[in-house]
Amino acid sequence: MPLIIKDEYPEKLFREDGKRLDGRDTDELRPIKMEVGIIKNADGSAYLEWGNNKIFAAVYGPREVHPHHLAKPDRGILRVFYRMATYSVFDRKRPAPGRREKEISMIVADCLEPVLFLELYPGTSFEVFIEIIDADGGTRCASTTVAALALADAGVPMKSLVSAIAVGKIDGKIVVDLSGVEDKAGEADLPCAITWYNEEISLLQFDGNMDLDEMNEFMDLATKSLKEIHQMQLDALKSKYITLKEEETKEKEEEVKEGEK
Ligand code: UDP
Repeated sequence: MPLIIKDEYPEKLFREDGKRLDGRDTDELRPIKMEVGIIKNADGSAYLEWGNNKIFAAVYGPREVHPHHLAKPDRGILRVFYRMATYSVFDRKRPAPGRREKEISMIVADCLEPVLFLELYPGTSFEVFIEIIDADGGTRCASTTVAALALADAGVPMKSLVSAIAVGKIDGKIVVDLSGVEDKAGEADLPCAITWYNEEISLLQFDGNMDLDEMNEFMDLATKSLKEIHQMQLDALKSKYITLKEEETKEKEEEVKEGEK
């Protein structure tokens, strides 16, 4: 899949065969790969490849709050730091965190907070560091999804996972999971997230134009895709424990063999 080239957006976002420019159908997600437990020094971590997006999330906590004045005596706090690497986009991104990064950090924190039991951790903080290594549209949704996985990997008690997806409109058609070029050249973009324990929407942003029927179509498509993403998150978590179990069994078998010698 080609990355976005600045100012070279195509006039049409569908090919002659009715597929999107990257070959997808309207309801098709980009290829997604998730892995947990990949950063040794973090309490929990996850890595996500979502189309051309490449994102790491690392979690620390519960731990002492720095600076101290942010601590709350009756509950823990969740701090999210979304950062885009300078080399993650076509233009050089300024290294200092900009307004967009602060906004997305806040959005991701708002999406995740409802699933945490922060009242059980007074005076402490959970910190989630999200590093965008390569960006190609939908990074706020991908970041929310990978951050939820990293929190689960850290063993932080959670009511459920959180999954996120962007749906939108390109060339008059409703599509799921906008790529960078579709995000920029399309007519509408609606990122949303769901907290699975109560099936409530914890993020709903909107940029563009649509009518009520289209809104219903958006939500149907988002619901279907969110279920697919949730299943991938569960599979990624399970796969770590299956690997650990296999390693443990192998070690035990080797110990038995050594003992028999
Ligand atoms: N983008 C970029 N430069 C920037 C910020 C964003 O090229 O400084 C690209 C990047 O690929 C990003 C896309 O524009 O994924 C859409 O950005 P938006 O702010 O809509 O957020 P996102 O869709 O990533 O959640």
